[in-house]
Amino acid sequence: MIKGNEIYRGKAKTVYATDDPNRVIMHYRDDVSAFDGAKLAKLEKKGETNNRFNAFIMETLEKEGVKTHFEKILNERESLVRSMKMLKVECVVRNICAGSMSKRLGIEEGTRLSEPIFEYFYKNDELHDPMVNDDHIRVLGWASEDDVQRMRIKTRRVNNILKPLFDNAGIDLVDYKLEFGRATDDPNGALLLGDEFTPDGCRLWDKKTGEKMDKDRFRRDLGNVIDFYREAAKRIGVPL
Ligand code: UDP
Repeated sequence: MIKGNEIYRGKAKTVYATDDPNRVIMHYRDDVSAFDGAKLAKLEKKGETNNRFNAFIMETLEKEGVKTHFEKILNERESLVRSMKMLKVECVVRNICAGSMSKRLGIEEGTRLSEPIFEYFYKNDELHDPMVNDDHIRVLGWASEDDVQRMRIKTRRVNNILKPLFDNAGIDLVDYKLEFGRATDDPNGALLLGDEFTPDGCRLWDKKTGEKMDKDRFRRDLGNVIDFYREAAKRIGVPL
């Protein structure tokens, strides 16, 4: 596999082309950002921690039959994935009320939900990713009715796998964001889980102490961000 040019630079990852037009390299940098890029920093070991964290989660999901874009870890900071055409929506799953849901609805953070709540957000930085419903997605043509249905089914399956995984490690999986797309070499094929699953895109709370083990440590200046990412990783069995 030959590493090619940078094709996209996000807030925490850079994507590189390879000699295979249908495979790209995801490079996890040490950068961290919050509030639409208004707060930025570099955190030592973040890249390698998230690369391994994501690989472990993607491999776990694959083993359980959830198709993802992930192929393999290449080195400390890089993984090989299938090149994807992503849907323009983010799927958020909530098991416990926190973050924007708490603010929007005035419900105290930490309120347990009797069943998971699914939310969709339109991926658009300028508009700050507004929340939308399945009618917006379908009528505005961001995804077909079938795909909206599929995202929901897949997201529910992911939750049924990951919630107990964290639970058994003494961690509450509070909420998280998933993104889906199709492989560029299979444009009419199955919807695949893309992007990443790391403590940057979820909320993890220690069940005993209530301590936050995710990006809220950075957002809210709680300190020791990566120590907590690594503690969560270690507990669920990520080889660090
Ligand atoms: N999330 C994300 N990317 C986004 C928006 C949200 O990874 O662009 C994750 C976030 O880390 C949290 C969950 O999705 O785990 C729900 O986020 P929320 O809507 O509460 O927004 P926040 O208050 O985190 O901005």
